[in-house]
Amino acid sequence: MTDAAELRRRTQEFLAANPPASTDRVDFLKARFDAGLAWVHYPQGLGGLGAARALQAVVDAELETAGAPDNDPRRIGIGLGMAAPTILAFGTDEQKRRFLRPLWIGDEVWCQLFSEPGAGSDLAALGTRAVRDEGGTSRSSEAESGGTWVVDGQKVWTSGAHAARWAILIARTDPEVPKHRGITYFVCDMTDPGVEVRPLRQITGEAEFNEVFLTGVRIPDAHRLGEVGDGWKVAQTTLMNERVSIGGSRIPREGGLIAPVAATWRERPELRTHDLHQRLLKLWVEAEVARLTGERLRQQLVAGQPGPEGSGLKLGFARLNQEISGLEVELLGEEGLLYEDWTMRRPEKVDFAGRDAGYRYLRAKGNSIEGGTSEVLLNIVAERVLGLPSEPRTDKDVAWKDLAR
Ligand SMILES: Cc1cc2nc3c(=O)[nH]c(=O)nc-3n(C[C@H](O)[C@H](O)[C@H](O)COP(=O)(O)OP(=O)(O)OC[C@H]3O[C@@H](n4cnc5c(N)ncnc54)[C@H](O)[C@@H]3O)c2cc1C
Repeated sequence: MTDAAELRRRTQEFLAANPPASTDRVDFLKARFDAGLAWVHYPQGLGGLGAARALQAVVDAELETAGAPDNDPRRIGIGLGMAAPTILAFGTDEQKRRFLRPLWIGDEVWCQLFSEPGAGSDLAALGTRAVRDEGGTSRSSEAESGGTWVVDGQKVWTSGAHAARWAILIARTDPEVPKHRGITYFVCDMTDPGVEVRPLRQITGEAEFNEVFLTGVRIPDAHRLGEVGDGWKVAQTTLMNERVSIGGSRIPREGGLIAPVAATWRERPELRTHDLHQRLLKLWVEAEVARLTGERLRQQLVAGQPGPEGSGLKLGFARLNQEISGLEVELLGEEGLLYEDWTMRRPEKVDFAGRDAGYRYLRAKGNSIEGGTSEVLLNIVAERVLGLPSEPRTDKDVAWKDLAR
């Protein structure tokens, strides 16, 4: 059993063998994964040591003090925050070996092919079809003992699809059963023929997300995660992790969106008014409460899987980001209305910190939609945390093919 002292010693030995200042960034990350110091609670050989999840903090603190490079979590956020825990929970040994290392290092970027034009909040209503073709072959060289699936449909709002090598994908494999029961979860190779990614510009002017058209895409059965028809259960693991990774990333005190507002407040006394002062203080305190709540949730995660409490955190994060970015624009007055650049860009990561107040204000609007809308998260908190009566569900026992669309 690895304890904190043992891990600290291992990390120090690792740092002595791979000094961050003189080791290539990617080589450092590869060595860190191979030493089991990437995510210590993962099994040995898969970036971990089978240790308690809480002990990751010991490793992170040592690495931070030594100035170790990070694995650029924003760019690979979907892979790290959502695909990895799902692969760990439902993947075969072969899938874990194939996907986790390049994902963690950042060699392979992941995207999430969940939302569809007619199925966002009601995700289980999705219509993208996957049909098994027993005799078929796919482009992939991986084992095809279970045959190949042929996927047709359309996904939407797919963040980072233009940079992604792999996607987590849910598709309908049985239209004859009620909607939650006929879904299967796959890993889709974004370079396969039949995958077409088209940029979608958003309110900020840039295209961070995309429409993805899937036409006759052949996915080997070896790239299925979990059982056929059991994809909703697998997707729940992804979605719970998504809320925690959106709402619960570790930030320092006065970090996040409150940081630039507080800095402007300190540096530009001419902008201050009594009213703005009151509102800034209130939001500063709320940001600190949210930060500490996130910390507590992370500690709860040590005990197991993320629960519906992550929905509450994500809700608060979205509201706070919108209020703080609104206050920042107000504080800056006319200057806050200037917008840096409307040139069409396809960024690979969301960078709230490196942009101006107008960008932060516009981009924060998406926080209450992405990863589940605030209205739907309120329903989850009401039903699963507070135990209040659930919404009426008329489609529960009806085959998906018979639902009105
Ligand atoms: C910036 C951004 C990035 C995204 N990235 C991805 C991605 O990478 N991959 C991906 O798959 N998806 C992604 N999404 C999609 C996102 O998950 C969906 O937009 C979201 O789940 C809402 O679905 P919808 O857009 O279909 O809205 P709808 O479901 O049509 O909802 C419309 C409105 O009705 C409300 N509503 C719906 N049902 C209920 C209900 N039962 N009770 C109360 N109110 C309800 C909603 O809250 C909302 O206000 C992204 C979205 C954004 C904005």
